[in-house]
Amino acid sequence: MSIADNIHRIEKELAGTGARLVVVTKTHPVEKLQEAYDAGARMFGENRPQEMAAKQPNLPADVEWHLIGQLQTNKVKLLAPFVHTVQSIDSLKLLRELDKHAAAHHRVINGLLQFHIAQEETKSGLTLAEAEEMLTSAEYKQLKHVRLTGVMGVATFTPDETRLRQEFRQLRGYFEHLKAAYFASEPAFCEISMGMSGDYPLAVAEGSTLVRVGSAIFGSRG
Ligand SMILES: *Cc1c(COP(=O)(O)O)cnc(C)c1O
Repeated sequence: MSIADNIHRIEKELAGTGARLVVVTKTHPVEKLQEAYDAGARMFGENRPQEMAAKQPNLPADVEWHLIGQLQTNKVKLLAPFVHTVQSIDSLKLLRELDKHAAAHHRVINGLLQFHIAQEETKSGLTLAEAEEMLTSAEYKQLKHVRLTGVMGVATFTPDETRLRQEFRQLRGYFEHLKAAYFASEPAFCEISMGMSGDYPLAVAEGSTLVRVGSAIFGSRG
């Protein structure tokens, strides 16, 4: 199966579900990204800021770039001119830095609050209490150049479907709670980013609006 075949197959599976495809392009050369673009993909996910910044000038300008890996504040300046969404918001400090750099470029950068939903301790993300502490802070309310548009999570790496569904349901529950408590009048807060190559059909069944799929499109990263 070619990159284009894989993208078309997944797009067809997602049609009518409310979920859209973020093609995870990390480690792949720009030629492959161009193939994905030519097949119709417009949202690309990278997990390293340097790699994303190096690839971005080589792709058409209408690509929506999503950062899906941890972002250190000293790397924000690499992405601020073009990044569409940082899916890995895990601190007020990061929001503050994004706001500052986005303002300098006269832009608004979207962000998803990343939650820890997996069993593995190593996987990063906020607790609900930490997120609420950020959202209720005076400092958060002053930020004008970052806009929170939803939540993101990485499930446990497991074939256990019951477990996966529980984790996706938990993330959706966080979304519903935050939407009602803090974003009721903000239609832009609408995204639930969950689901990867191994588990995206389950994530879609549990309400995902953005699936992040790499190896099911490009093959394994080796
Ligand atoms: C790599 C990565 C993906 C895509 O993983 P695949 O299994 O290749 O589909 C999705 N989300 C995050 C956060 C990733 O780092």
